[in-house]
Amino acid sequence: MRLILLGPPGSGKGTQAKLIVDNNAIPHLSTGDMLRQAVAAKTETGKKAQAVMNAGKLVSDDIVNAIVSDRIDMSDCSNGFILDGYPRTLKQADALGAMLEGKGLSLNCVVALRVDDDALVERVSGRFTCSKCGEGYHDKYKLPQVPGKCDRCGSKIFTRRVDDNEETMRTRLQAYYKETAPLIGFYYAKGLLRGVDGMGDIAEVAEGVQRVLEEAVR
Ligand code: ADP
Ligand code: ZN
Repeated sequence: MRLILLGPPGSGKGTQAKLIVDNNAIPHLSTGDMLRQAVAAKTETGKKAQAVMNAGKLVSDDIVNAIVSDRIDMSDCSNGFILDGYPRTLKQADALGAMLEGKGLSLNCVVALRVDDDALVERVSGRFTCSKCGEGYHDKYKLPQVPGKCDRCGSKIFTRRVDDNEETMRTRLQAYYKETAPLIGFYYAKGLLRGVDGMGDIAEVAEGVQRVLEEAVR
């Protein structure tokens, strides 16, 4: 099962990806994690990415594409993978298409999570993650079972992204609608798009996602 999770920041891509991993035994490839792994593994592309990031610049499409390509070649992706945060633009979607074709692979589906803007702002404003294992939480919708202790790994250290606030969210949403939302039409035209209502609670959305995935491989 090879799929892309598409949706605005805060729509629940990370949250749903973790649940898909548990139910389908395929890895979750998020751009941020892949970048950090490539840097830590000191691969050729990882070194290039580090130099750019150290200079405070955004990593170029070429570097991101190469990192995704290397990651997909790893053995744990042989049964498939979940892409989260990539592709971000039509250009990257084209590059991904060519890359997969070159490897003799194709996508099974693109899951688009639909969530209203006001809900997105609220979700992102309350978001925090475990610093050790990356498990995602929310001040109102998903608190750790034992206060202050990560459900998954037991760590007591959590982080919040500095750009997870209402003001920056409005700008990030503009960028999403301008650069990333066109991918919805792009994948619709290829017959790969599956929309899922992302407004329900986490378990409800997970059911919707799982239903769509089962249809896609049928
Ligand atoms: P994305 O990866 O798309 O940016 P996240 O998965 O990080 O989004 O979710 C954003 C925030 O909203 C997190 O704090 C998460 O716990 C919370 N969240 C995710 N899905 C839901 C949902 N269906 N209802 C309420 N809160 C949610
Ligand atoms: Zn943890």
